[in-house]
Amino acid sequence: MPPVPRITERHDFVSVNAVRTSRAAVALTFDDGPHPTHTPMLLDILARYNVKATFYVIGQSVRRYPEILHRIVAEGHEVGNHTWTHPTLSRLGNGSVLSEIDRTQEVVWRTVGALPVTMRPPYGAMSSQQSHMLNDQRNIPTIMWSVDPEDWRRPGSSVVADRMVRGAQPGSVILAHDIHGPTIRAIPQAIEGIAARGLGFMTMSELLGFRRWGPRGLRYVSAPSASYHQG
Ligand SMILES: [Zn+2]
Repeated sequence: MPPVPRITERHDFVSVNAVRTSRAAVALTFDDGPHPTHTPMLLDILARYNVKATFYVIGQSVRRYPEILHRIVAEGHEVGNHTWTHPTLSRLGNGSVLSEIDRTQEVVWRTVGALPVTMRPPYGAMSSQQSHMLNDQRNIPTIMWSVDPEDWRRPGSSVVADRMVRGAQPGSVILAHDIHGPTIRAIPQAIEGIAARGLGFMTMSELLGFRRWGPRGLRYVSAPSASYHQG
């Protein structure tokens, strides 16, 4: 099997909450999938509105539902790295953190031939040292968020949508989870409300001004897979 490539792009930032941009756009981001029923429902909604989003996927779930990852990428969305087992990274040593990231890079690469170029820590729990370590050693910056509707508390779809709309500004990174039914049902209202405020939707890479993300969108160098695993 060919080795999993490494990202060679260097970034002058390590961690991002919102993007400073003149573009009137936000990034919709969905964590914790792919989910066998909620993610396809969300993809149907996004397609209806022609909105592209970013999915921070759990590596183990990608291994379980590869066909859903195929669909995410085929429909023009971006995939980010949300670790292999969804641990609290701040409690782990560097070797374990690298292993969580690398295994997920590998399964995404082997499934869709594209490599996540950003990561998001589960629970937002990661030390500054760990973010620097990942950026130095894997060229993968940490993406947090600037709008949190707290959808995981299940406050109801219209509350989730309203929080997303009210928080949205140019460069906002909006956090949601595609494993909750009420979140999925909030998305049409959220998209319409955000659009009504004059804001469009970009994937994380687009908002950051990276080169186009996708199966052939970035330059990589090959690394021997033996040295790629460090955990
Ligand atoms: Zn998560």
